[in-house]
Amino acid sequence: MIGLLSGYVSQRVPSLLYRVSLIMKPQVVFVLGGPGAGKGTQCSKIVEAYNYTHLSAGDLLRAERAREGSEFGQLIASYIKEGKIVPVEITINLLRKAMEETIENDEKKFRFLIDGFPRNEDNLQGWNSVMDGKADVKFVLFFDCGDEVCIDRCLERGKSSGRTDDNRESLEKRIQTYLQSTRPIIEQYEKLGKVRTVDASRSVDEVFADVKSILDKEG
Ligand code: UDP
Ligand code: MG
Repeated sequence: MIGLLSGYVSQRVPSLLYRVSLIMKPQVVFVLGGPGAGKGTQCSKIVEAYNYTHLSAGDLLRAERAREGSEFGQLIASYIKEGKIVPVEITINLLRKAMEETIENDEKKFRFLIDGFPRNEDNLQGWNSVMDGKADVKFVLFFDCGDEVCIDRCLERGKSSGRTDDNRESLEKRIQTYLQSTRPIIEQYEKLGKVRTVDASRSVDEVFADVKSILDKEG
């Protein structure tokens, strides 16, 4: 499989994403919000009702952490537990590969929900340098939810999620990272008029009703 990163710079055969982007450019919705805001839950519901593929950056990192022989397993494990953001080189490669594989399997699947990314300036710069011109970011779907509700939901989820970061200590750090690093990214997109905000503190169905009206309007 020819990678986009290398393909862009020096490959004689252009990468799949590059070739596809000439015809049907991948359409991306970034899904952002605090830990426990309901990004994953809402993305699953969107996938049931709309023609989108859900890619969770956190899930891709957890899969890479678990992959035998991964050179990044240890690093990812410690970043996740500490609520820190993994260097973008790792994350962007996982995202790019997942997008390429999806399109390779079915070229009609060019709409993506990218959940939990970009989370900081490093993520955004990595995306821009690798994906510029090769995918269109339609808008940011922002699940807006107070910290207390987020923490309570994650602690509840932690009873059964098995996640190493759904405990109070990791959560405090995740909330700090979210406020310090991710909110400014959302604000940047806000200035571009590219944020669609949903009040995510309500029930799953109430939130989804708002999500539907956004997607019905904007595809
Ligand atoms: N993470 C990261 N980069 C990303 C996405 C996730 O480093 O682009 C790491 C980060 O440590 C984060 C953790 O993965 O705290 C869990 O992310 P996830 O999106 O699964 O958590 P959620 O916000 O959905 O609760
Ligand atoms: Mg999630």
